[in-house]
Amino acid sequence: MKAHQQQLEHLAQFDPLTDLPNRVLLADRLQQAIAQAARHKQSLAVAYLDLDGFKQINDAKGHGIGDSFLIALSRRMNAALREADTFARVGGDEFVAVLVDLPTPNDGDPVLRRLLDAAASEIEVDGHRLQVSASIGVTIYPQDAVVADQLVRHADQAIYQAKQAGKNRYHLFDVMQDAALNAQRESLDNIRHALACGEFVLHYQPKVNMRSGAVVGAEALVRWQHPERGLLPPSAFLPVIENDPTGIDLGEWVIEAVLTQMEAWAAQGLHLPVSVNLSAHQLQHANFTERLGELLSRHPQTPPKWLELEILETSALNDLSEIANVIKDCTELGVSFALDDFGTGYSSLTYLKHLRVGMLKIDQSFVRDMMDDPEDRAIVDGVIRLSNAFHLNVIAEGVETAAHGAMLLGLGCELAQGYGVARPMPADLIPGWIHSWAPDPIWQATLAM
Ligand code: C2E
Ligand code: MG
Ligand code: MG
Repeated sequence: MKAHQQQLEHLAQFDPLTDLPNRVLLADRLQQAIAQAARHKQSLAVAYLDLDGFKQINDAKGHGIGDSFLIALSRRMNAALREADTFARVGGDEFVAVLVDLPTPNDGDPVLRRLLDAAASEIEVDGHRLQVSASIGVTIYPQDAVVADQLVRHADQAIYQAKQAGKNRYHLFDVMQDAALNAQRESLDNIRHALACGEFVLHYQPKVNMRSGAVVGAEALVRWQHPERGLLPPSAFLPVIENDPTGIDLGEWVIEAVLTQMEAWAAQGLHLPVSVNLSAHQLQHANFTERLGELLSRHPQTPPKWLELEILETSALNDLSEIANVIKDCTELGVSFALDDFGTGYSSLTYLKHLRVGMLKIDQSFVRDMMDDPEDRAIVDGVIRLSNAFHLNVIAEGVETAAHGAMLLGLGCELAQGYGVARPMPADLIPGWIHSWAPDPIWQATLAM
């Protein structure tokens, strides 16, 4: 009876497959760890770990091998922690580590790095050499001064950024940003209301060819004409609706508004291709291609090839095969794609080969600093060469001065967008701007050299 009783207790607190603590025991241990950290004025870290690529092993090799792999891997990961730490299994390939006794918030870093290494180590099961990696979200108590289950939730939330930034890494939950978001959160209703009332507007930023002097297109950038707060930039509202259906609605509104605008410009004799930014969420939404097709067919006067869709390099990496398919389907409708903020993600050359994009947009941070920072210049140079090798167009964003443009021309990049050419402006100013714009003389001089 006694042995049986013990067995039942064990089952209630430990995961049957890996024999690691389960959620119940984790909650218990975390509670104690928080009390102790508060008593000793120390920090603790909650690390939520999600394996990258475990599903593929399970699918390809079967559950038996998948299970053996998980058992072996969880032992290695557990061994990377210290004696007093807790390592729990909370889902199929999800684990939570509680790192205790940290004199300062950063003292968990070496342990987290060991944990990443352990998760990415190769393991042999039945003659198969298997390897995954881990994406870890981390939050630190008492910097993040919330109760136990909320700490776990915050750590879980931070995994998203770790995955977005390219996996096999950890990302620290941003307490300040979360507070800022919470302060804004009640405005989700306001944003929905604003969309219904037509308070969103698009500004357009020209893109030019510095060599030929042609205006080659414009990028549509959304703003909220707020009745009290004035014109608000996307950073003031996009993060709030990012993962909400309202984000999809706003995204559709933007495409519809751009198609209507291109039609109006065409009626005045101005044929200007326009690019639209897509959120990852929108692109991965089940019927995106279908919706895009419907929007395009409502504007038969506007050739689909005038529409370019910009997707963030980082979001494209999230689910490569799925995104590659969406891009392929949309390309068949006639629209083209650009990878935005290129250089901030971790695209491998294979990825570039699989994504049918026509354009790379060099991220503005590299362009801005390339004049003083040789490493940023090397990145800009590298992206330009990469685009040549893959027969892609390349445009630099954040071209703030004519001198930036001259350097870009020297490196072989002819297309530019940025304050040095023009700031984003309301649609009705675009025709006049195009009429009066002339390329900077130093660009011609650079080309003549
Ligand atoms: P992005 O697509 O990379 O757009 C470029 C941003 O850089 C714009 O900021 C633009 O105003 C700004 N910019 C342009 N030239 C310069 C320059 O020379 N120097 C500096 N410092 N900045 C420059 P904005 O309009 O605030 O947009 C920020 C981001 O919001 C965009 O980055 C894009 O990711 C997102 N966004 C804008 N409109 C939409 C939209 O309709 N849908 C979605 N999903 N995202 C959008
Ligand atoms: Mg963009
Ligand atoms: Mg960009």
